[in-house]
Amino acid sequence: MSEEYSPEISQDLRERANYVRYAFFEDIDQNLLRIENKFIENGLNVLWAPDESSLCSHIFNLLPKKSHNKVCFDVDRIPDELSADPSLVKVCTPLSVANRETEAETLVVNADFAVAEDGSLLFADRPSKNCFNLVNNVIVIVNIDQILVNCSDISLIMKLKSKSQSYFPADVKVLSKSFTKIVADNFATSESVGFREDPVNVSVILYENGISDILQDISLRESLYCIHCGRCMEVCPVAKSSTSISPIQIIKNNCLDQYNKTLSIFSQTTLCGMCQEVCPVMIPLTELLVYEMGFVNNNSSKFKDKKIFSIFSKRSMLNKMNSSFFRFFWTKALYGKNKNLYTYFKNNKSTFYNLENEDIIDKDSDSSLDTNGIF
Ligand code: SF4
Repeated sequence: MSEEYSPEISQDLRERANYVRYAFFEDIDQNLLRIENKFIENGLNVLWAPDESSLCSHIFNLLPKKSHNKVCFDVDRIPDELSADPSLVKVCTPLSVANRETEAETLVVNADFAVAEDGSLLFADRPSKNCFNLVNNVIVIVNIDQILVNCSDISLIMKLKSKSQSYFPADVKVLSKSFTKIVADNFATSESVGFREDPVNVSVILYENGISDILQDISLRESLYCIHCGRCMEVCPVAKSSTSISPIQIIKNNCLDQYNKTLSIFSQTTLCGMCQEVCPVMIPLTELLVYEMGFVNNNSSKFKDKKIFSIFSKRSMLNKMNSSFFRFFWTKALYGKNKNLYTYFKNNKSTFYNLENEDIIDKDSDSSLDTNGIF
């Protein structure tokens, strides 16, 4: 396990967190209705966005001016549509706004979580934490898989999301309604105080973004339990050596139509199982990767010929033959073009695979080690 996450997470905590996530998805329709009602009760403007284009049009409509809007973005990815035309939207960074180098009218920020029980919005260690008091409008994007059912779930999930030794984010903001900001009053008189309160409007966009597609596949549903703690990426040898994509992103990307269930999944994982070991909400990441490989394998003549999935499925045998000789050939065949990853596996002394559930693996595959077309 990575040293950065040295505090061990007990199995009890992991099971509780898994149940918290399960409870939301088990009754997702009711929970979404509940949170929408709570937002409205709290006086927030609520919108739904099924996809990115709808998200962009909502944001455009919520901006105060028709053009020259200065917008501070604290989101996972700024959609191209929003950043393409600087005459419509001038993108500002949270740092420049917080340091008062730029004045922004609007902050667009992802909530880390929202809570269905009372409609509160949670922001943990966001780069924009010092910007809330500096804008007139806050647009909060809530991904619909990042919702908790009860307020009592917050501390557990925040604890597990935190990467710090102290086991809790340094800054957690909880927002449940529009608020006022305190600003200097330039027209203060000797009778009035030197500041005034200005209203800040808060709008919430509930963002679906392909989540329904994943929900429809019962096997992949658990991938939505992710709380974006980053642990799986920290321990993933492929992510460390070659890509900036995490195991959970590989799984989700392959679920979504626009990525077309890519063949590259075979070179994006070694099925070492370390991601699954560290996941605090017990997502069966390795099983899900194997499941998706099976899907790609069944739909790709290229990979049927090469039987890479079949090779992966024979991990027990590979482990038994875990000699440097086999390691050399196996690693060279799959990761020969990536020097870092190749070196990592050549030097690694532990077993390649540690999946416990044998049943999910390709049962029809030949029991002998078939290396035709690979080595
Ligand atoms: S899938 Fe990865 S990022 Fe998501 S909760 Fe598990 S370890 Fe954290």
